[in-house]
Amino acid sequence: MDQTKEQNDDYGYNLFPERKKSKYQKGSIGESLFTFSHKCQIMLHVAVETNPYAKVLLGALKNSGCAVYKDRHFSCEDCDGTVSGGFDATTSQVRGTASERSYVIYDRSLIVLCQNNIHQQAHMNRVVTHELIHAFDHCRAHVDWFNNFKHLACSEIRAASLSGDCSFSNEVARFNFGLKKHHQECVRDRATRSILAVRKISKEEAVKTVDEVFDSCYNDHEPFGRIPHSKKDARFAYRDFENRDRYYENL
Ligand SMILES: [Zn+2]
Repeated sequence: MDQTKEQNDDYGYNLFPERKKSKYQKGSIGESLFTFSHKCQIMLHVAVETNPYAKVLLGALKNSGCAVYKDRHFSCEDCDGTVSGGFDATTSQVRGTASERSYVIYDRSLIVLCQNNIHQQAHMNRVVTHELIHAFDHCRAHVDWFNNFKHLACSEIRAASLSGDCSFSNEVARFNFGLKKHHQECVRDRATRSILAVRKISKEEAVKTVDEVFDSCYNDHEPFGRIPHSKKDARFAYRDFENRDRYYENL
């Protein structure tokens, strides 16, 4: 990537205006912002305490030396457009080898939840799960989020596939394509749109990049061991995860 392009690239920060502010500015709509923020905090709490997808990921992150905590690593903010959440890789650094890893978190939070765009618990659960998958990838692999579009595409494919973003709520699409095909098409589409939202590349380039890494990344189900198509699947994945943990403890 040439220097000019890199300098002009805003890495999607225009979508998260509060990331740039040093201090939160309260306006005349402060009261409604407080309400949004409060609701966001409560929904986040429910997601991390009760959602099996989130619990699998939080457990896996902890085991990998990258424990993520509700109060320290999440932040409810107002975002532009229709974006629901974001993962800010610049706030943290993973150090050490795979066996002895430490997660260094800088002053800002790791995961942004867009309090003005998330209104339902089910949506919050999906956003928290989606962003935790990015955190998991960030922890386990040396992901070059900014210069390697394949790395970004891979994590977006996994996040779309494993978070329930593409669960079969769309009956028409399901009828048209069949379940499996619909899921794959949906994952491709969402991953492409996620890349386009945060990087200045052409749609063709985004589609091509997703295509290149699709099979290997779509088939990587860690840490779930399967694609969780429903909360029930996720609960099974959590049960397996806990058993795996117990097994290791006995060694
Ligand atoms: Zn994403």
